[in-house]
Amino acid sequence: MDFALTEEQRLIQQTARQFADEVIAPRARELDATATAPTEFFPQLAELGFMGIIIPEAYGGSGLSNLEQVLIMEELHRACASTGVTVSVHNSLVAGPIVKFGTEEQKRRYLPRMARAELIGAYCLSEPDYGSDAAGLRCQARFEGDHWVLDGTKAWITNGEIADLFIVFATEDPARRTRGISAFLVERDSPGLEVAKKEDKLGIRASCTNMVHLENVRVPADNLLGERGRGFTIAMDTLDGGRIGIATQAVGIAQACLDRSVKYARERKQFGTEIANFQAIQWKLADMATEIEAARLLTYQAAVLRDEGKPMGAKASMAKLFASETANRAAREAVQIHGGWGYVAEFDVERHYRDAKITEIYEGTSEIQRIVISRALLR
Ligand SMILES: Cc1cc2nc3c(=O)[nH]c(=O)nc-3n(C[C@H](O)[C@H](O)[C@H](O)COP(=O)(O)OP(=O)(O)OC[C@H]3O[C@@H](n4cnc5c(N)ncnc54)[C@H](O)[C@@H]3O)c2cc1C
Repeated sequence: MDFALTEEQRLIQQTARQFADEVIAPRARELDATATAPTEFFPQLAELGFMGIIIPEAYGGSGLSNLEQVLIMEELHRACASTGVTVSVHNSLVAGPIVKFGTEEQKRRYLPRMARAELIGAYCLSEPDYGSDAAGLRCQARFEGDHWVLDGTKAWITNGEIADLFIVFATEDPARRTRGISAFLVERDSPGLEVAKKEDKLGIRASCTNMVHLENVRVPADNLLGERGRGFTIAMDTLDGGRIGIATQAVGIAQACLDRSVKYARERKQFGTEIANFQAIQWKLADMATEIEAARLLTYQAAVLRDEGKPMGAKASMAKLFASETANRAAREAVQIHGGWGYVAEFDVERHYRDAKITEIYEGTSEIQRIVISRALLR
């Protein structure tokens, strides 16, 4: 859909591309190898306006649209999916719901610092025993006079280690499922909040993923995000946007695989000629390119619908489902095109192959996306 982008949108995309190529990409392999969170980019990302992409200008953000967020994030993910998801969670899963559901006071307190990267966000929905079935979550919320008390354990929390502000979903009564859940803004230094075990992952190794324990954590009453008992709606609305974010990550990874494969196929010679001259390789490239275009269009479509305030849950699921499967196919073919060199770190497709897998798992597995899509069809 590049054909439909405005001049300004192309400029935004170009700025992100240049930063991703010149600053992020050269560091990606090292950050992955050492599982180092990409905090070194935060000052420059904030300077570029990428730590507050959809935060309105009135709160110090860039005031951009969801489509523009996709354009920026694809470039970051193409260079380094770990950096991409770190920035994406901060923007889409934390700043996003504060912009949409926060009180004026909450917006003033948190958004400007988020846009300046002084405050990094994390989103705490999943629990060790409740992932796909998020409505079953057990983290407990009790209202005691003028404050809330939270108790429980959250699992798989992206940015856990580096976050200053956690959106925590907790329930007053698990038996009430979706209607018992509320959302809370919990600050890092709240007594009783402990960021625990860091997971040792297959891919996106430079993105930190932690267990978060909450024990008698007192949260001021005015840190309730949205209405009491409406937390699940906030969680799901946020994930609609987040799924566009993961579709974008998948498109970025897939594009990186294609770019590296085209370059390698032109350089690598076997049987006295470049492997690009073999039809077997050409067809792989053609299929990769075609699927990436389709995935990108689905992602843009979901973003534009969200910008227009139209229903887009099933479209976001389609984009995530198709883009994540595209990324995994593209990564597999990229490794194949690189032969033995694809299997080692030097040409980076090995990293893309490991990074691609997570896109089929988080923010709703592919099975869950198929459930969302089929429910919309059969409703
Ligand atoms: C690296 C990483 C980062 C993450 N970041 C965050 C984060 O920042 N915040 C957060 O809240 N969560 C985060 N998550 C959690 C992630 O969203 C969950 O892992 C995901 O939703 C799946 O839940 P689960 O792991 O409990 O798997 P399960 O729900 O146990 O699923 C296991 C398998 O069963 C299948 N399954 C489950 N239910 C059904 C069904 N009804 N029909 C068919 N198949 C089904 C699933 O598709 C899957 O294949 C992260 C996870 C990872 C790995």
